[in-house]
Amino acid sequence: MTATTATTGPEPSASPGLPEPVGDPPLLEVRNLTVTYGGTVPAVRGVDLRVEAGQKLGIAGESGCGKSTLALALLRLLPATAKLTGEILLDGEDVLTMKWGRLRAVRWAGASIVFQGAMHSLNAVHRVGDQIAEPILLHSTRTTPAAARKRAGELLEQVGLPAARARAYPHELSGGQRQRVMIAMALACDPRLIIADEPTTALDVMIQAQILRLIEQLVADQDVGLIMISHDLAVLADTCDRLSVMYAGRVVEEGPARQVYAEARHPYGRALSAAFPRIGDPASRRAPRGLPGDPPDPAALPGGCTFHPRCPVALDSCATEDQELREAGGERRAACVLVNAPAADDSRSTS
Ligand code: ADP
Ligand code: MG
Repeated sequence: MTATTATTGPEPSASPGLPEPVGDPPLLEVRNLTVTYGGTVPAVRGVDLRVEAGQKLGIAGESGCGKSTLALALLRLLPATAKLTGEILLDGEDVLTMKWGRLRAVRWAGASIVFQGAMHSLNAVHRVGDQIAEPILLHSTRTTPAAARKRAGELLEQVGLPAARARAYPHELSGGQRQRVMIAMALACDPRLIIADEPTTALDVMIQAQILRLIEQLVADQDVGLIMISHDLAVLADTCDRLSVMYAGRVVEEGPARQVYAEARHPYGRALSAAFPRIGDPASRRAPRGLPGDPPDPAALPGGCTFHPRCPVALDSCATEDQELREAGGERRAACVLVNAPAADDSRSTS
């Protein structure tokens, strides 16, 4: 049985006084997305996501859970060995069936990605200003190289760097400055969705905080959607509106970010939030606890619930029975046999 999402009531992003046209598609809707590498490695298994314009979705999970595969799949940036099924609707248009010309237009302008590790994503032999200007020129035949360079300078200032740094080569910049350049590049074509894959993982803590604030501020100013990927649930809880927690290629928990962080319903969500306590938050003053073991190799997934070998509360049946996402109270859903429907005693009449 597949769980279905029913949306009732006004969308949270609807402008006050201006009802949204009925049937307007969300900015991004991913339906039952699977990605299999080389025919044998199911790295993403049946993921559903939804991001409204101006909304910030966090995707959490340990290394190897399929987060980057999912991010790259959204713009079809995966190697040819990856086979994709499902739907990736960007403004209602399916990225998976787009022709190449259309896909090129959608990359950068529809959605853009900030990768982890800016040093590897920037070209070492070109000035950063030229690298920012490149997608602008690619997307607008009317823009002159001089205008694109000017815009690159403005974008650098927008991300907190002097416009004159456009003449620098990547190796002349610090890690934090390079990540700012990546963000400027991601903004270059005014995308409606920004996907940030561990944008601060390679940076030290102080710089991490600055880059996160910068991303938050840019998203708020421009009303774009954000997908922020991190293994650090506390960072996502601070930055995002909603959270999806991934394990072994699936979303195992989703809901409002603060709720998921503060009281996750899936034991994996709980383990992740215990592993990343929020600094200075008295409500979460608990000792960080490591979760023993590692996520499974997608080429050899355990049967039943894929989390059961590491789960502190697993039942015998978890070794054989897989779990779908189910309603878990509030606007939350979790894929755990121990999650009961909210108010189960008096809600029988709702189904
Ligand atoms: P995350 O970003 O959560 O760390 P990834 O999406 O990078 O996870 O990886 C998910 C799984 O897919 C891992 O087991 C990884 O080894 C595998 N994987 C990633 N890229 C490839 C690839 N190009 N070919 C085969 N397997 C891959
Ligand atoms: Mg990754």
